[in-house]
Amino acid sequence: MNANFVVGTASAGPGEKGFGTLGVPGTGVTMPVAVIQGRTPGPCVCITAGVHGAEYVGIEAAIRTIGGLDPLALSGTVVVVPVVNTPAFAARSIYVCPLDGKNLNRVFPGSREGTPSERMAHALFASAIRGADAYIDLHGGDLNEALLPFTIYFGGADPEIVARSCEMAEAFGISHIIEGSVAGSAFEAASVAGIPSILPEAGGQGILDEAMVAIHLRGIRNVLSTLGVIPGAVEPAAPPVHVKRFLWLRSDHAGLFYPRVAVGDSVAEGEVLGEIRDWFGRRLALVNSPAHGSVLFLVTTPATNPGDPLLAIGA
Ligand SMILES: [Zn+2]
Repeated sequence: MNANFVVGTASAGPGEKGFGTLGVPGTGVTMPVAVIQGRTPGPCVCITAGVHGAEYVGIEAAIRTIGGLDPLALSGTVVVVPVVNTPAFAARSIYVCPLDGKNLNRVFPGSREGTPSERMAHALFASAIRGADAYIDLHGGDLNEALLPFTIYFGGADPEIVARSCEMAEAFGISHIIEGSVAGSAFEAASVAGIPSILPEAGGQGILDEAMVAIHLRGIRNVLSTLGVIPGAVEPAAPPVHVKRFLWLRSDHAGLFYPRVAVGDSVAEGEVLGEIRDWFGRRLALVNSPAHGSVLFLVTTPATNPGDPLLAIGA
């Protein structure tokens, strides 16, 4: 068999690397896609980044993965979409796609007839994710967010898929691991569809931080070697810390957010983590910690709106 592996216009025969685009019908949107097919059979791993268009650390790690993988040394196939949300990337948009104001990672598995984000989700899911045996969706803090690296997997799928997703999370090597749920996210939709999946987060604030890129690159290598796609041993990482509860605090007000903590800080239940003030400097609310834990995620720019995330505590 010398079958070509095809995603969108990208095609690769055994031992080949192919580049192309995946078009999203009815939107004019295309996303870049690379297919790297090994010479010998093996699992198909899908890697995506830039579902949020300004999370550059994941995007850079995906781009370097395309360049770094040698198809002659591969068993199986790796499909990489280094920037999924190309409209958001072009606009440097936080959270949402500028074409419809929707968060792409809340609309998976998408819809063929929906809004641009829903169509993008559908095209990616149907063409790149659905056929994979494992899925890694690289994220990080957005332009306005700092975070301590962590990996999420979905706990509500078939127990076999949950167990394999957890193994992938541990292999990836970021110490903080969260069994959680993000409704409409790509990794959750993939898990429900029977594909072991993880969402690793590293980096943030629009900074192309080499140390954070290295965390994602080590994680990708570790997962690929655990699955037998690339040769070589798994690079040992710090022992995993399984976070039991991941608590998101959100703003009830429009105004300015002034955090009093930094990512990585340990906090006590009831501790004041920050405050929200109005445009005249008057306090609108204090933000208190709902539990003992550590700050895994923090919004680091002042603007806040009702419903916006402020920070997250791993308890
Ligand atoms: Zn993200």
